[in-house]
Amino acid sequence: MNIYITLDYEIYFGENHGTVEECILYPTSELIRISEKHGAKFVFFVDCGFLLKLQQYKDQFPELKKDHQQITEQIKYLSDTGHDIQLHIHPHWEDSYYDGKKWIINVKRYKLNDFSDSEIEDIVYRYQKVLKDITGKAIFAYRAGGWCIQPFSRIKKAFKTNGVYLDSSVFRNGKFSSDAYAYDFTNAPDKDIYSFDDNVIAEQKDGYFTELPISPIRNSPLFFWKLFLLGRKDPYLHKPLGDGKAMPAPGYRKKLLTRFTNNPVSVDGYNSHLLQKALNILLKKQCKHMVIIGHPKALSRYSIQKIEEFIIKNKEQHRFTTFSKEFSK
Ligand SMILES: [Zn+2]
Repeated sequence: MNIYITLDYEIYFGENHGTVEECILYPTSELIRISEKHGAKFVFFVDCGFLLKLQQYKDQFPELKKDHQQITEQIKYLSDTGHDIQLHIHPHWEDSYYDGKKWIINVKRYKLNDFSDSEIEDIVYRYQKVLKDITGKAIFAYRAGGWCIQPFSRIKKAFKTNGVYLDSSVFRNGKFSSDAYAYDFTNAPDKDIYSFDDNVIAEQKDGYFTELPISPIRNSPLFFWKLFLLGRKDPYLHKPLGDGKAMPAPGYRKKLLTRFTNNPVSVDGYNSHLLQKALNILLKKQCKHMVIIGHPKALSRYSIQKIEEFIIKNKEQHRFTTFSKEFSK
């Protein structure tokens, strides 16, 4: 099995966005430590809109100059040491700004599809160029901010023009919508890899794009009761390392606590408890690819331990690898 541990590398977008140190740099340094000990490699989906904003303001504000320098250095280090740096777009950065103390984040246009065709082309071009400039490598894989990749037909042209041919935003049967978010992966192909063209959840054999979906898992409400209770009982172990707050997702928490839900396999917090179980299910189905999502900001001390245990247990039989190693053209 190829196992891809993928991390969306970003600060928080809620009222309190947190610091670069706690949300990004420190948790990522823990992953680097694990990687150097066990030889596993990770995929980082970097929030490039944030990088561009830091670039825009860095000469005006010394604190942002420092953020920009440290993030750029960490990305370069990750890339040079064999981790993957790929494209993660949160286009709401286009409408957000720094007020001298904090980021004023405007999520009115949260999805790429909230922009015009020419704006989409321009965003995809600039957002991937900033990563190419840092790493000197091709950027060809994509994870949509907030999983909002539909309708793909509007984004497709910009991806082709800019050499993006692999997506990893879908998780089978995931579905959510609110003012800002919208995704619906109901009845996505029950596969670990497939080709597509206009529609990310419709397999098309000769399609230009490859989907490497995030592996899905079905959780009982009991699991999330446990997750929330552990967070209260033992915050040292279970509290996220990031010091910000997520943007609101109305009704989401209640849904998790009251019914069975379809979620992506994740290394975030207590979700990491299920890594081995998820792998065993995929092995039974004879899958070849396991994609795990996570966020440095949402890792906890517990999940960092679990990631390390998971790698130790599986590194001999399976490969903790990257998209660049497996899918570079
Ligand atoms: Zn994100």
